[in-house]
Amino acid sequence: MVILTNEFVSKGFSGLYKIGENSYMNAVLQSLSHLLPLTIYLLTTESSKFENNKNFDITKSYIHLISELWRENVAVKPTSLKNHIANNDECYKSRSEQNAYVFLIDFIDILHESLLRKKIGIQSTEFSSSHFRKAQTEFLDNVNHHQSIITDLFYGQYLKKYTCRDCQQYTYYTYQPFKELNLVCGNFEKTSSVEQLIKVEFEKDHIHSNCAGCSENYEREHEVEIKIFKLPEILIVTFNRFNKFYGRNKYSVVPNETLDFSDFVFTNTDESVIYTLSSIVCHSESAGYYSIVHRG
Ligand SMILES: [Zn+2]
Repeated sequence: MVILTNEFVSKGFSGLYKIGENSYMNAVLQSLSHLLPLTIYLLTTESSKFENNKNFDITKSYIHLISELWRENVAVKPTSLKNHIANNDECYKSRSEQNAYVFLIDFIDILHESLLRKKIGIQSTEFSSSHFRKAQTEFLDNVNHHQSIITDLFYGQYLKKYTCRDCQQYTYYTYQPFKELNLVCGNFEKTSSVEQLIKVEFEKDHIHSNCAGCSENYEREHEVEIKIFKLPEILIVTFNRFNKFYGRNKYSVVPNETLDFSDFVFTNTDESVIYTLSSIVCHSESAGYYSIVHRG
């Protein structure tokens, strides 16, 4: 929960001018700007310590933009930020619409690498559980020991338990980090709720891999149980409407005001497992542009 300081009360109604066909960019920037844990961090942290980081010029321009957006309720031109982004990546030089999802992931990666803190090692103590120590090791290896406000806020971790179906004895675990939950919409008729799609994502799966418990050295079928080891503070959910067999699905997803993850987490925890919707970025096929619905 974010306690709003006076600077944020009655603010947040600022708009962004279109520059060419850049609604994909504006919709993503607006939704990120309304994620107050990130915005407050960016507006209140001494940024000079990040100045030598890669792409900090882009983040500096974004910080300037959100300071304008939250100063008063006005319309702002994101020209400087758009130019910085275009100079860094040819894809964004074009004045035509791009994919908002791809831009969101690219922009979050830029924020991450520009806001890296000093490398840190394993923080676990002798009292930490074996899962915690292994999860922390896998997480730090995955991000190359580089952490930032982005890994703090947006990264979660799966816990996958693999059990050999032949010997039924040997199990192993992985703790893969994630920064988005990508849900496939193609498994239901016409309309589905986000909960239904999440249930499908967390159904048991099967893979083939070597088993250290079985004597012969060839791949065995393993059952995979999927849980969430660590929920991110801010969860990005994306909906994949494309199916390699049927092309674009004509399904719709009913958004939820809240999402309860208590069935999908690995351990009981005192931390909240209920997310409250912040905003939805949607694409209108008929109009050809993106818009954002923000839940105030
Ligand atoms: Zn086995």
